[in-house]
Amino acid sequence: MTVTYLKRAEPRPEAESADLRDAVAIMLAKIEQEGAEAARRYCQQFDKWDGEIVLPDAARAQAVARVPQDLKDTIRFAHDNIRRFAEAQKATLTDCAVELLPGHWAGQRQIPVSAAGCYVPGGRYSHVASALMTITTAKVAGVGHITAASPPRPGSGMPDAIVYAMDLSGADTILNLGGVQAIASMAFGLFETVPADILVGPGNSFVAEAKRQLFGRVGIDMFAGPTDSLVIADGTADPEIVAWDLVGQAEHGQDSPVWLVTSDRALAETVMTRAPQLIETLPQANAMAAKVSWAERAEVILCDTREEMAQVSDRYAPEHLHVQAADLDWWLERLSVYGSLFLGEETTVPFGDKTSGPNHVLPTSGAARYTGGLSVQKFTKTVTWQRTDKTAMRELAKATSKISRLEGMSGHARSAEVRLEKHFGHCDST
Ligand code: NAD
Repeated sequence: MTVTYLKRAEPRPEAESADLRDAVAIMLAKIEQEGAEAARRYCQQFDKWDGEIVLPDAARAQAVARVPQDLKDTIRFAHDNIRRFAEAQKATLTDCAVELLPGHWAGQRQIPVSAAGCYVPGGRYSHVASALMTITTAKVAGVGHITAASPPRPGSGMPDAIVYAMDLSGADTILNLGGVQAIASMAFGLFETVPADILVGPGNSFVAEAKRQLFGRVGIDMFAGPTDSLVIADGTADPEIVAWDLVGQAEHGQDSPVWLVTSDRALAETVMTRAPQLIETLPQANAMAAKVSWAERAEVILCDTREEMAQVSDRYAPEHLHVQAADLDWWLERLSVYGSLFLGEETTVPFGDKTSGPNHVLPTSGAARYTGGLSVQKFTKTVTWQRTDKTAMRELAKATSKISRLEGMSGHARSAEVRLEKHFGHCDST
């Protein structure tokens, strides 16, 4: 394989800092011990908010009323696509039953969790789309109670558009809370909300670490680190569009890597010249994040063939994978390691981030090797049942008794044998 790195990322910093782990563990312990008061204190400390934590119905209605109609229409457009995609996913979840032996039935059922906590990040940007993605999907799955939380802005609370998106998507309780205090409050059922069975949604490293530490006591969607994106481009791609797509994703934050894998050296060189120029046109704060991301995390990789490009992409297991190359059907068939795939120049990762339907909460940092993104399935438990008549019971009891005795598990064997004794008068397991 002939693969040339035209641009390499700097060595990754230590993936997980012990300081972060300790800080989050202390916060979780304090909130668990002291309850809502500790969460409220952290909210004052980190977000400078001492107003209501649970958004009252009247404040919810007022916030919804303040959102301009054209913005409501746009948010509804996105919500409609996300809801209909989630409904299509729901239709793939089916119960089943099979008669394994005459008189012995086994089956499986799809049951939504009772309560979910949906985190909507809100530190740097107002992530309206994350409210739509998480809450709508939980609602379509049939989750009984949905709590949504997002950081309040000092003096004004949560932005109106986020409240509107939460309300539209079906949040039952809305918490003016961000960070670890939000995650802990939803997990422990503070502020009189229903304790979450599963916590979902993206967030910064404090949010991700809090979810990681609570995993086991509650379910989580996935461990989500900084967002990442890979573009595969051949000679048919437009370098200006490719450059914008990479710059757009670098805007997420300085830890967010973007990768270009291409079979066209001229395209690679144009993109490497244009990307820093395009970054300069962004607003200052966005440009600062994108500049560091491009300088330290971006990679540009030149390959000879499309199969080589596919193999390189597989190794990265990107969260977002965008193919701008000929023969999109070949790529759809060939690629299998990604969180979400975008095919062709007419689509772009920001469509998926905001409006186009499939979920934007996706596996990062290589997790696409073993999981997909947030979906109706993540809110659903696949549980099994079985039911057996007397004839089938005889067969199963004999086999169970034999295997249990071989394993030395006499109690298990007796559970089988007492049934044989009761119904057939002996416990002959031969
Ligand atoms: P955030 O809501 O995740 O975090 C803000 C909270 O962090 C604050 O409420 C505060 O309580 C807490 N915090 C800040 N400093 C702290 C400290 N020193 N100690 C303890 N807590 C502290 O918002 P953000 O910071 O803007 O991060 C959003 C993240 O979400 C980004 O990393 C972005 O890439 C990610 N994101 C990912 C997706 C996706 O689908 N993959 C979508 C949207 C956003």
